[in-house]
Amino acid sequence: MNAAGLAAQRIAHRIAGLPKTTIPGSYFAKGHYFVLAGRSPFSRLVYPVPAPGGLGTHVTLDLGGQARFGPDVSWVDSIDYDFDESRAPSFYSSIRTYFPGLVDGSLQPGYTGIRPKLGPAGSAAADFMIQGRADHGVAGLVNLYGIESPGLTASLAIADRVGALLPR
Ligand SMILES: Cc1cc2nc3c(=O)[nH]c(=O)nc-3n(C[C@H](O)[C@H](O)[C@H](O)COP(=O)(O)OP(=O)(O)OC[C@H]3O[C@@H](n4cnc5c(N)ncnc54)[C@H](O)[C@@H]3O)c2cc1C
Repeated sequence: MNAAGLAAQRIAHRIAGLPKTTIPGSYFAKGHYFVLAGRSPFSRLVYPVPAPGGLGTHVTLDLGGQARFGPDVSWVDSIDYDFDESRAPSFYSSIRTYFPGLVDGSLQPGYTGIRPKLGPAGSAAADFMIQGRADHGVAGLVNLYGIESPGLTASLAIADRVGALLPR
């Protein structure tokens, strides 16, 4: 099974016998998270209306009760997890649409993540691509492409699908 996330297409190109025409394009959408200094003012998750390429700058809470905001969406050409602090002003303005009490200077850089996209910026959102023998002709191989959010939530269903595609 090829479940290499961001590297899935690169690995697929190295599998002998796999028709290259079955391998989708590979694009990267980076997301930044900022964390709120101190204890969270929220007791539950807050999801604003989704933005193109992502779910919008929503609030999640970590196990320590700290609030983090993100991810935003920026399209990148290579896998690079550097944190761009200049994105802070856009976070303040989008968070203030649902949390006007956000104090200047209270956001701190958190971390970044990169989503494996199947189409470039501006293209329609693509579903996960799960390819078995019927799609590519190679027995015993399943390729998973574009397993971005909500891939974690969907992981058990994805596993069921992969299991059904493999020979018993
Ligand atoms: C910013 C962001 C926010 C997200 N939020 C959510 C969310 O709220 N809810 C949700 O359900 N999902 C969310 N996701 C999506 C979720 O993280 C992914 O769907 C999930 O991690 C995909 O799992 P995976 O095992 O397919 O790939 P990955 O987790 O990417 O794992 C791929 C693995 O393959 C390994 N690998 C790569 N190349 C090779 C190689 N050559 N040889 C061996 N191993 C290799 C990598 O090291 C890695 O361990 C989010 C993703 C991002 C980026």
